[in-house]
Amino acid sequence: MPKAVVKFGGSNLKCKEDIARIIQVVKNYGKPVVIVVSAFYGVTNYLVEALDKARYDEHVAKNTTTYLLNLKRETLALHIANEEKSNLILTEITILLDELERYLHGIALTGDASPALEDHVLAYGERISAVFLAGILQNAGIDTKVAFPESIGLITDGEFGTASVDFVRSTSKVREALSEDLIYVVPGFYGLSADGKTTLFGRGGSDYSAAAIARCIGAPSLDIWKDVNGFLSADPKTVENPVQIERLTYNEAAELAYFGAKILHPRTVEPLAAPHIPIRIFNIYGESDVNKPLSVVSAEKIVSKGIVKSVTYSDDFGILKLKGSGVGAKPGILAKVTSALHLAGINISSVLTSQISINILIAKKDLSTAYALVSAIELSVVGRVQIIEDISVVAAVGNGIAENYGVAARIFTALAKNGINVLMSCSGASPLVSYFLVGANDRIEAVRAIHHEFFETINPLG
Ligand code: ASP
Ligand code: MG
Repeated sequence: MPKAVVKFGGSNLKCKEDIARIIQVVKNYGKPVVIVVSAFYGVTNYLVEALDKARYDEHVAKNTTTYLLNLKRETLALHIANEEKSNLILTEITILLDELERYLHGIALTGDASPALEDHVLAYGERISAVFLAGILQNAGIDTKVAFPESIGLITDGEFGTASVDFVRSTSKVREALSEDLIYVVPGFYGLSADGKTTLFGRGGSDYSAAAIARCIGAPSLDIWKDVNGFLSADPKTVENPVQIERLTYNEAAELAYFGAKILHPRTVEPLAAPHIPIRIFNIYGESDVNKPLSVVSAEKIVSKGIVKSVTYSDDFGILKLKGSGVGAKPGILAKVTSALHLAGINISSVLTSQISINILIAKKDLSTAYALVSAIELSVVGRVQIIEDISVVAAVGNGIAENYGVAARIFTALAKNGINVLMSCSGASPLVSYFLVGANDRIEAVRAIHHEFFETINPLG
C-alpha cells in the first residue's frame, strides 16, 4: 500500500507547542507516511528580504544565518533535553546555513543575483525545516529520514519561480526513492531542473510539492494540516458563522483558491485530479484524529441545496482598461496586447469586453509593467489605456451555478439590497463560478450580503 502524503505548512510551525502537535499527529497515523514541510512561519518572507538587502549590504549574510540558527537552537532546546542529540541536528542545520551564508555573501560581492540563485536561496527555509523536523521525529523514537528533492529525483520544467513538475521524468524515481518502510520528510516549495538547478513552485508552493509527490507515489490521499477548520462558506474574519464545507470537487477547490481562499494553493489540485487522489484537510488545533478530515476534495460531485458552497474575495487583481469607441468591433487588438503581455511573462486572468472598452484582469503586481507595455503598442482605435487598482474580485462558487436559474439573480439582488455597486461581472466562464468586481471598499459587505442570502436566510424557492 503506498504511503499517504502529509503536508505541514508554515502555519503549523509558528510556536513551540506546534512541534509537539506535529509529533502527535505523525504518531496518530500509526504507519509510515511521506511528510512535506514548508519553511517555518515568516522565514520565506525573511529570506526574500535578506536576498534583497544582501545586494548592497555585506553584513546581511552573517546576520541572516545567525538569526536562523538562533531560532532553531531555541526551538530545539525546548523539545530535546539531551544536548548531544540536539547538537547533532544543529550541526546538520549549520551545514545548510553555511552554504546559505556563502550564497548571500556572493550576492553582496557581485551586487546581483540571477533567477537561479534567487530560487536556490529562497528554498533554504524549507531545507532547514525538513532537517529540523526529521531530527525532532527521530528523537521522539520515530524512524525518519530527510529526502531532498535533489536526492529523490523531483524534476521540473526548469522555469525559475514558477516551475511545474515533469511527471514523465519524476514519477518512477520519486516512487522508488520513497519506498522504504519509514517516514520521509521532504522539503516543499522546489524541485530540480533537468540540469540540477533549484526551481521554485511559486509562493505558497509547498502544497503543490505535496500534491506532486502524492501523484508520483500514487498516495491514497494528500492530507493537508492547517490552522483553520477546513473549507468554509466564507472567511471567518468576514462573516460571523461560516458553514464548514465537508465535500468539494477538485474544480470547486481550485476556483475557490484562485479567487482568494487562502486554504490551498490554487495549483494543488492540478496533479491530483486525473489520478483521483483525494485531498483531506485537517486543523492541527482541533482533533488530531487522522480519520476525521474537516473537508475532503475529490472527484465526487455533490451539488449543495443552495448551490453556492462558498463566497470569497481577492484583492490581488486589477484592471488594464483599453478605451475607445469601436475597440469591441476592431479585430486584432487583443492579439497584439495579449502577445506583448505573454512575452513579458504576465498572466491574464480574465478578459471582459464591450463596444467601447476592453478590460483585462491581471495581478496587481503586474499592472504597471502591463500598462507601460500596452501604452507602447501602436493601436489606432484605442484612445486611452488606464489601470484601475482599487477593485476587488468577489466570487461565489458551487457546482450547478451555471445550470440553475435564479442563482445569479439572488446574488445580484442581495448586492443591490445592500447598495453595493457591481462594476463588472462574469458568469458562465466556469460552470461553477459567478464572479464580479466591486470597489475595494465594498468587498467585505459584498461577501456578507451573499453569505447572508445563501446561508443565513431561508430561500422560499428551496
Ligand atoms: N515557504 C514558501 C512560501 O512562503 C512555500 C510555502 O509556504 O508553501 O511561499
Ligand atoms: Mg503555505
